[in-house]
Amino acid sequence: MSQPDPRPDRAPAPGFLAAPPGALVPPRRRPPTEHEHESPDAWGFRDTYFRINERGHAVLEGNRYELSGQELTEFLPWMRRSFGVPLEPAAARPSRYPPAVPEPRHNPAFRAELEKFLPAAAICEDPLARLRRGHGHTLTELYSIRYGRLARVPDLVLFPRDEAEVERIVQAARAHGACLIPYGGGTNVSEALRCPPEEQRLIACVDLRELDQLLWLDPHNRMACIQAGAVGRHIAAQLRELGFTLGHEPDSLEHSTLGGWIATHASGMKKNRYGNIEDIVLDAEVVTAGGRLARAQALPRESTGLAPGRWIFGSEGNLGIVTRAVLRVSPLPELQQYDSALFPDFASGVEFLRELAHAGAAPASVRLLDNLQFQFGQALRTPRAGLAALRGRAERAFVTRVRGFSLEQMCACTFVFEGSRDQVRAQRRTAARLLRRHGGLRAGAENGRRGYQLTFSIAYIRDFALELGLLAESFETSIAWSQVVPLCTAVKARLAREHAARGLPGRPLVSCRVTQVYATGACVYFYFAFAGHGVEQPHEVYAELERAGRDEVLRAGGALSHHHGVGKLRQRFLPRILSPAALEWTAALKRGVDPDNVFGAGNLWRP
Ligand SMILES: Cc1cc2nc3c(=O)[nH]c(=O)nc-3n(C[C@H](O)[C@H](O)[C@H](O)COP(=O)(O)OP(=O)(O)OC[C@H]3O[C@@H](n4cnc5c(N)ncnc54)[C@H](O)[C@@H]3O)c2cc1C
Repeated sequence: MSQPDPRPDRAPAPGFLAAPPGALVPPRRRPPTEHEHESPDAWGFRDTYFRINERGHAVLEGNRYELSGQELTEFLPWMRRSFGVPLEPAAARPSRYPPAVPEPRHNPAFRAELEKFLPAAAICEDPLARLRRGHGHTLTELYSIRYGRLARVPDLVLFPRDEAEVERIVQAARAHGACLIPYGGGTNVSEALRCPPEEQRLIACVDLRELDQLLWLDPHNRMACIQAGAVGRHIAAQLRELGFTLGHEPDSLEHSTLGGWIATHASGMKKNRYGNIEDIVLDAEVVTAGGRLARAQALPRESTGLAPGRWIFGSEGNLGIVTRAVLRVSPLPELQQYDSALFPDFASGVEFLRELAHAGAAPASVRLLDNLQFQFGQALRTPRAGLAALRGRAERAFVTRVRGFSLEQMCACTFVFEGSRDQVRAQRRTAARLLRRHGGLRAGAENGRRGYQLTFSIAYIRDFALELGLLAESFETSIAWSQVVPLCTAVKARLAREHAARGLPGRPLVSCRVTQVYATGACVYFYFAFAGHGVEQPHEVYAELERAGRDEVLRAGGALSHHHGVGKLRQRFLPRILSPAALEWTAALKRGVDPDNVFGAGNLWRP
């Protein structure tokens, strides 16, 4: 990526505006319909949420997912036993959304400039629209909008319709001293969108939702140009119709955007086959305070000095606005198969994954769930009757009595194999061989399929649990293979100690899963929850405990984050992992690229 050539005898670099010869230019896609709208104070779609029905069982409302509408008779009893608290529906604490929204600040000169090129509908001061753009999906943020308030939210929300309008917004902000924060899907879990309370300037959120088009697809060269505000589920659906996929499937796919993925350095569940976002994006166009970073074309690879386009990964809205990107696309796989396995314990599962990664035939996705997560998945099963129940009991007896697995130790692994028939066959053969070596037991395609289809529906449980007084959140890291098991043990022990030291009610739940594998190590997710009944400001206690968990991750040699990013949540830990010169490099880059701090979200490093 380079600045447009300033010499007058050459045309400026055109950017990715023109479709290359032979590319398909699809018609404009319809805008999202009403039923696709999101909940204002909880994760996901408005029509989908957990509730307790008249028989006292948890049910997922709506009809989007396989779990929807099913009475989950085991779920609440399992939660009560596990947390050691009653979880009475009558004691539920309904959301008090919306909170009071801070009054907007004004900047008449900036506003007058905006009105010269934006229609009235693209400049929004609505309090709830401003509120939504002032947070992501951390537990603390959700707690604040339901039971407290946010100290500062954007004063304006802007909806540019094209790149030229984005450029003019940035120029106007620079000229008139406004602060800008780019917004994609608002799904981050790093407090990246939280407005710095000390910011005195007007804060305008630049919502990219109108820049949501697949601009062109070049099937021959396997590239597509997509605008940054496009939402994952729309990108996936549109590419699928054309026979292609990005292969980037974060668990937030339904609501997160291409620009957000780039800005947070995201990773999807199928990264083993398709790569992380930085492997998939060939190049991106970015509007910075100094102008538009653009280049004529995206090429397979180049050696042309420093590549500013690479600095945009993980920039978290601090350096500019990504407006479009050229990405590598892959043809839809010939075959997709699920499978699952059981291991006697977590350590054997981790060794299996390590050898699978080294064998070079890892499935598109493989996940290892510890015993608690395995039990959690079982608690979400609907009751089985007749033959299915008999079969269930027989399988259980085989696993425990014949194979000697302990119900309190065993853990589960789920697989998605993708590729050509030959590739899938090779992946399966390798997995089967290593499974035998590590004492694993095949647990069937259906369990594997179910595990993956639960991904999108279990994301709704956290906000349901909050109503029942449970505080829950996940955090992730990456770590070398040799440290995976010690890390998991240390984090679980530390959170249990911190919980006990504060005399918090009931028992804490800490579980983990391995979600992405590399030759050198793995990505590990922790899920931590406790009952906040009778606890003053439980979300602050949660934040304290999560920081303790993060401290333990760093002590064990783990990454500050594998893919959620830094935002403001993990900023304080940066000096533990970066040298002073490395921190100053980040600060100097920011000063150089954005001397007036137009992009003032305050993420990453703030000296
Ligand atoms: C249930 C759930 C599951 C999740 N699963 C995953 C997962 O599997 N993998 C993963 O990586 N993450 C995951 N996340 C985290 C989150 O979805 C990602 O961080 C995602 O990339 C954020 O995208 P977004 O469009 O929502 O960005 P936003 O939340 O809107 O913004 C995030 C940051 O990016 C900046 N930004 C947004 N758009 C642009 C742009 N066009 N130009 C410049 N900066 C921009 C914002 O200013 C902000 O700093 C999950 C979150 C939730 C709640």
